[in-house]
Amino acid sequence: MAKYLGPVCKLCRREGEKLFLKGERCFTPKCGFEKRSFAPGVHGKSGSRSRSATGRESDFARQLRAKQKARRIYGTMERQFRRYYETAQQRRGLTGLNLLQILETRLDNIVFRLGLATSRAQARLLVTHGHFTVNGRRTDVPSMLMNSGDVIQVRDGSRDTTYFKELGDFAEKRNFPAWLNRDLKNLTGTVLRLPERAEIDGNLNEQLIVEFYSRR
Ligand code: SF4
Repeated sequence: MAKYLGPVCKLCRREGEKLFLKGERCFTPKCGFEKRSFAPGVHGKSGSRSRSATGRESDFARQLRAKQKARRIYGTMERQFRRYYETAQQRRGLTGLNLLQILETRLDNIVFRLGLATSRAQARLLVTHGHFTVNGRRTDVPSMLMNSGDVIQVRDGSRDTTYFKELGDFAEKRNFPAWLNRDLKNLTGTVLRLPERAEIDGNLNEQLIVEFYSRR
């Protein structure tokens, strides 16, 4: 499946805020946004972010940025993100919330939320390398959507790898959301239910994303 291969820190600079895409590094002075917080490109310092700051950003620009930000945080490409939006529309309830719930229930996001990876990118890599089973079956599809009751577990053959042996202390320090359950001893996580809006990143604006895709 396609994925973004360009410079990651540039994405934070483009959105004008830290998106925490690189795990531990994001919390150190090495963070690219700490060094250069203006947008990339020759017009970076005087470009769209500056217009935003002066209140001249168009509705379309705000909608586009909201959509791009969510897409980048969850590491999805445009086509897939649009498909998620179409699925969200078909579900009952609020399209925006449905969309966020779909993104949250991706397997790579759940591995990250469980504290089994430092970032979604690392979680994605771990999944594609076949380190996890879902309900007892091995999978290497990071975009797989989980449902209530699904059990995610580190594969028996992967438990003895250095990464998972040393994971304990790091994972122990990381909280996990109430809609998941975690058993670090057995390197297992369970989806208890769908997340509520308050349990999802409050910095995302799903209403603007809906407006972006609803425009004619
Ligand atoms: Fe963004 Fe993390 Fe890079 Fe900082 S280190 S710019 S938060 S991805």
